[in-house]
Amino acid sequence: MTLTVPASTLDYFGIDSLIDDDTRQLQAAVRAFVDRRVRPEIATWYDSGQLPARELARELGDLGVLGMHLQGYGCAGTSATAYGLACFELEAGDSGLRSLVSVQGSLAMYAIWRFGSEEQKQQWLPPMAAGAAIGCFGLTEPDFGSDPSGMRTRARRDGSDWVLSGTKMWITNGSIADVAVVWARTDEGVRGFLVPAGTPGFTAPEITRKQSLRASVTSELVLDDVRLPADAMLPEAAGLSGPLSCLNEARFGIVFGALGAAQDCLDTTVEYARSRQIFDRPLAAYQATQLKLADMSLELGKGMLLALHLGAAKDAGTLDHRQVSLGKLNSVREAIAIARECRTILGAAGITLDYPIIRHAANLESVLTYEGTSEVHQLIIGQVLTGHSAFR
Ligand SMILES: Cc1cc2nc3c(=O)[nH]c(=O)nc-3n(C[C@H](O)[C@H](O)[C@H](O)COP(=O)(O)OP(=O)(O)OC[C@H]3O[C@@H](n4cnc5c(N)ncnc54)[C@H](O)[C@@H]3O)c2cc1C
Repeated sequence: MTLTVPASTLDYFGIDSLIDDDTRQLQAAVRAFVDRRVRPEIATWYDSGQLPARELARELGDLGVLGMHLQGYGCAGTSATAYGLACFELEAGDSGLRSLVSVQGSLAMYAIWRFGSEEQKQQWLPPMAAGAAIGCFGLTEPDFGSDPSGMRTRARRDGSDWVLSGTKMWITNGSIADVAVVWARTDEGVRGFLVPAGTPGFTAPEITRKQSLRASVTSELVLDDVRLPADAMLPEAAGLSGPLSCLNEARFGIVFGALGAAQDCLDTTVEYARSRQIFDRPLAAYQATQLKLADMSLELGKGMLLALHLGAAKDAGTLDHRQVSLGKLNSVREAIAIARECRTILGAAGITLDYPIIRHAANLESVLTYEGTSEVHQLIIGQVLTGHSAFR
């Protein structure tokens, strides 16, 4: 490899040589979509807190990224690594865009694909893969985030029907969803239910005044004696392991996705530092700047190597869900550190939406918290290492 100034930080690591041609092409198609459709608009969407989610969902469906690693029912059936790299490119655009895709594919569609009846799959998966129907995934409640086993949302039998009551909180895509996958406590333990939008007693008010993930819809789900037929329950999910396995799918996407945000910050920063003159020289020519860039590039490259390693294990069917915690913790923690350090190099310009950095930094605060907070992943890792659970 001849090393000239790389177009992008990961080129330096020769990461592309670890990815097969088909996957690289798929990644390039997602990157082209983000360049054309997202980059020119994202600062405006973020600033206004308005995302044209329905329109985007259709376009993401055409691109083939919704539920892309699932087989059948109109899904693309790609490798897990390809899905991860698509998340990388989407999150280089914005974590909100990647969240839309993750929640649709890895949480809502995966839950139906893995635990649904044949009728539920036939009804929902093809339109969801096409982006004609949007899904959300309601696990978190106002009083129970990291510990969903405490959930209060209840589903009780009434004849053959189910009646759901409770509140879910911080639900991505909630207000725009055509179907909500809602997890509730029953006499037989936690079960999942498909709640179509418009069902009497079901509302999904949007959560406003967010200062992170502003280009993403986040909602409350209110279930006030929502009556559902017997076949609304996902038959194959019994207990908390159902929703937790869905979270694991989404976490895997974040392992790659957060690094996309980090790369976008770094690439922007290198370009800025090369053109910004300070004390009559380019900012990039100062040792202090280069030390920062070198350290950040190393973390990005190491993170990507770990992500690809986990991707290969997932594709080989050998990935343990506790290994995903290594990647989720590392990628998001390093990405947020990179975003903050990049911001310092841009000085005051770094705080505006003219550059993507403050937006990525603010977004990554949410990414650090959802799909298992960094502390929760540290505790999972600690338990693997010591054999002791420190959760309680
Ligand atoms: C923008 C956004 C979108 C989201 N989308 C969804 C969605 O689509 N669906 C969904 O179901 N949820 C969603 N969530 C919710 C998210 O999963 C929760 O916020 C997350 O699980 C943390 O829960 P919490 O916010 O209640 O924090 P808490 O659980 O109250 O945690 C507070 C603090 O306590 C720490 N903590 C927890 N347990 C321990 C422990 N044992 N020891 C030490 N410290 C501990 C945590 O790490 C954290 O620092 C979303 C959240 C955000 C911000």
